[in-house]
Amino acid sequence: MSYTGPDPDPSPPRRFPRGPLTVAVAALLPGALLGWAVYQAVGSPGGSADVRGPAGPASATAGNPTAGTPAAAGDAKPDAPSPAPSGPADPSAAAGPLAGRVVVIDPGHNPGNARHTAEIDRKVDIGTRRKECDTTGTSTNAGYAEARFTLDVAHRLRHLLEEQGATVELTQDGDRPYGPCIDERARIGNAAHADAVVSIHADGSASGNRGFHVILPAAVHAGAADTRAIVGPSRVLGERIAGSFVRATGSAPANYVGDGTGLVTREDLGGLNLSTVPKVFIECGNMRDSKDAALLTSGAWRQKAAQGISEGIAGYLRG
Ligand code: ZN
Repeated sequence: MSYTGPDPDPSPPRRFPRGPLTVAVAALLPGALLGWAVYQAVGSPGGSADVRGPAGPASATAGNPTAGTPAAAGDAKPDAPSPAPSGPADPSAAAGPLAGRVVVIDPGHNPGNARHTAEIDRKVDIGTRRKECDTTGTSTNAGYAEARFTLDVAHRLRHLLEEQGATVELTQDGDRPYGPCIDERARIGNAAHADAVVSIHADGSASGNRGFHVILPAAVHAGAADTRAIVGPSRVLGERIAGSFVRATGSAPANYVGDGTGLVTREDLGGLNLSTVPKVFIECGNMRDSKDAALLTSGAWRQKAAQGISEGIAGYLRG
């Protein structure tokens, strides 16, 4: 799993409103076409004031939750990494549509965590309780680590956002031996006064569980945690990302959590509980499913994933 501990998910995410066109089209199409149908129904490149996430009943996605043909069958060896980390933003980019906006990208876990188990096992306060500083994350059956995946997508996403003029900060860039701890990950976004924060992950669920989901902060007010002010904007951010992720990747919402919505609300994640700025997690797919793993290990697919996340963030920031 990408994080330890129980996953009570006590409050199933509500299904956000969807238009009759979406429902009708989704009901008629197999999963392979669902993403496009959802895009046609709710998406537009310029963004719409009518904020909706991916629609579609769970029955429409069952058995074929993810569209697209993997580049290679099975648990393929990861291909070329993302471009090298970019340098300081091009001054000319400051004129882009996201100029003046601050986005913090949180690449989940750290490739070094496995060598620092004592450090990452120490407990930190997440408001509702104490929890491990960080976890090692999951991997594909062939050993492609979630921490490598998250950093690669983060680099691609940073490039896309900087091209649009945004100021981008990463919580870690492979530049520290382990961590940061989940409480520090939250504090980095807070200190940056980020307009949006996204934490990148891939899940480690059972084979056959497929698709992506976006995790939204629950309303938590306990100890150092007070998410009440960010629940609303974080949901809008998450719905935007979910919708654009469907369109960019062709992936369907997860078939094992979220009741087909691609959205899950949780109160047990320190990175969300301690955030004071709009923030979501995205689990881009299930590393333990061979078909999802074939996507996650594809550089071309990771670029699509970064594109989808970027478009969701940009749509949210444009309002
Ligand atoms: Zn994770």
